[in-house]
Amino acid sequence: MYDLIIIGSGPAGLSAAVYAKRSGLELLVVEGNAMSGGQVLNTYEVDNYLGLPGIDGFEMGQTFRKHADKLGVTFKNAQVTSIENKGNVKVVHTRKEDIEAKALIIATGAEHSKLNILGEDKLTGKGVSYCATCDGAFFRGKTAAVVGGGDVALEDAIYLTRMCEKVYLIHRRDELRGAYVLQEELKSLPNAEILYSHTVESINGDAAVSSITIKDVKTGETKDLPTSALFVAVGIHPTNDLVKDILDCDDSGYVLADESGKTNVPGIFVAGDIRKKPLRQIVTAVADGANAVTSALEYLKK
Ligand SMILES: Cc1cc2nc3c(=O)[nH]c(=O)nc-3n(C[C@H](O)[C@H](O)[C@H](O)COP(=O)(O)OP(=O)(O)OC[C@H]3O[C@@H](n4cnc5c(N)ncnc54)[C@H](O)[C@@H]3O)c2cc1C
Repeated sequence: MYDLIIIGSGPAGLSAAVYAKRSGLELLVVEGNAMSGGQVLNTYEVDNYLGLPGIDGFEMGQTFRKHADKLGVTFKNAQVTSIENKGNVKVVHTRKEDIEAKALIIATGAEHSKLNILGEDKLTGKGVSYCATCDGAFFRGKTAAVVGGGDVALEDAIYLTRMCEKVYLIHRRDELRGAYVLQEELKSLPNAEILYSHTVESINGDAAVSSITIKDVKTGETKDLPTSALFVAVGIHPTNDLVKDILDCDDSGYVLADESGKTNVPGIFVAGDIRKKPLRQIVTAVADGANAVTSALEYLKK
């Protein structure tokens, strides 16, 4: 039986792996994707991680993984289908086998909700982004569009007006859902334009986004809107299928745990974007991984 199984090898899981291995734990990391790195693999450049300015996201994911490999961490490439809490024993089920451990760290991250429209997958990282604070600076002096109508969409649009020449906010309804103060701030900005009652039908471009096709839902009329970027802010959801029936979660499905990563179930810890917290970034995921191992060590000592 392993001391610890870490599920997920994004920044949180890999950071936890490094800390756990260096603490001498019998450890296994189970990753569903063919590659480690998590969401970081989907960004072409990360410019806000201390010490690695302008690093390519793919390279960063591989660098994190190499660190764990160098220490001799054991990885298994398998999608975890469920977990079971048998008190002092936790069972991790994959399609092929059941693996036991004394403790678990769940680092399965979060996924940004997608529009599921033509061009979205192809142009993600090439002008389509789900994170304005991460990628906005790449479109300095250019035109950008944001789709969504809640607080995040409004905040993203306001943030982008500080660097982009022109920012469109596209919302399918005729009124915004986000906070009144944010609406008023956005409306007051000379380089922002809100397109109400419009949906984005497709994202166009070959090597990078060149335009989006938008539709007026009242008239059915479509037109192309030239833009270098489309920021999708239609929600984010935690990858919580494994734990939503076992661990206490908030209304949005994020696991309730403070920085220690301790959940309502002794021996099951969470780290990274799956945890309820104010800022979901690489640096906070990495910190969570380290903290969750500290909590796991404390639990295992008992
Ligand atoms: C396009 C984009 C750009 C971004 N840019 C930046 C940036 O510039 N700076 C920044 O700080 N942050 C950025 N972020 C946010 C950052 O990537 C996340 O905060 C961070 O990756 C969270 O790490 P995590 O380990 O918690 O989760 P994730 O990165 O989501 O990793 C979770 C891992 O768990 C695995 N997994 C999930 N379910 C299972 C299962 N059932 N079985 C096995 N494995 C499973 C997944 O395959 C994945 O590898 C960006 C995000 C996106 C999407």
